[in-house]
Amino acid sequence: MRLILFWLLLLLPVSAEPLEVRVLVSHPVPREGPAHEELPADPKWRGRLEVFRENGKVQVVNILPLEDYLCGVVPRELSCNELEATKAQAIVARTYALSHLRPGKRWDFSATDRSQVYGGQSAEQELATRAVRETEGMVVTHQGKLAEHVLYHSTCGGATADKEQVFAGLPVDYLKSVPCTYCQASPLYRWRLEAAADALGQELERSLGKPVQPLTGLVVAERDSSGRVRRLRLNEAGLELRGDDMRRLLFGTNAEGQRKTLYSTRFEVEQGPSGFAFVGQGWGHGVGMCQWGALGQSRSGKDYREILNFYFAGTATAHYQELRVARGG
Ligand SMILES: [Zn+2]
Repeated sequence: MRLILFWLLLLLPVSAEPLEVRVLVSHPVPREGPAHEELPADPKWRGRLEVFRENGKVQVVNILPLEDYLCGVVPRELSCNELEATKAQAIVARTYALSHLRPGKRWDFSATDRSQVYGGQSAEQELATRAVRETEGMVVTHQGKLAEHVLYHSTCGGATADKEQVFAGLPVDYLKSVPCTYCQASPLYRWRLEAAADALGQELERSLGKPVQPLTGLVVAERDSSGRVRRLRLNEAGLELRGDDMRRLLFGTNAEGQRKTLYSTRFEVEQGPSGFAFVGQGWGHGVGMCQWGALGQSRSGKDYREILNFYFAGTATAHYQELRVARGG
């Protein structure tokens, strides 16, 4: 028995120091969209802060263990009361973080949705912290390696998208379109946006740098296999616009402070006497894990492994330190 224990101890990886990450927190911004939350005026941070001057600006970086960082990310990215969905979010957030480390640089990620929204200790919530602790170190893997391209979004609206239909670069085996009806409880499963022809024409003219007015027609010229708009055609002249550019153009607030949001590229265009209506489904780019879908699956009794396998087909989960040992790193 003692001999067996001795060999077992030799085989176990030596526990490493907790991995630290560096997060730029000088310019955290409130989240866009319906989940809009302001950061507290005086946020609290775990770990330590490093302050330095760069290009005449004061920058602040929060340096802390990866797992503590995730406790400040998960509740900002998915705030709900479903443990299994939250565990899936924790694993995906950890996988994303480990894939985006920048050794030798002053910081790894920003605290905004350019990487993952991070609210520090002030943002922590009990269930999210439990999900992070209970999945400590676990990541999504593909063919025994870290799945470096995991992505997620709020609501797919009926089907997720193939990665290569939305983002540049090669297809990724585990980022393929899957039908998903689990996100029907999302407030943005269906939505409608109306735009006056004149105002929309002005926006398009500014964005394209070409004459568009009067905007007399707007039709979908091409869709991808998941039903998302790839190309729109304007007027009779044959001017074209990418669906995702249209989404970016109409995401935000106009000069009068009115909110106008084309939540996704999964939409139909209706033309009326004074303008256009976009009738759509879902929120976000549509690639990878649908967060409202993960929530729906969790509510229907699925565990985090089933949820991750559904959105990232052909993947598994493992502790990232075991991957490092397996690679001999
Ligand atoms: Zn969905």
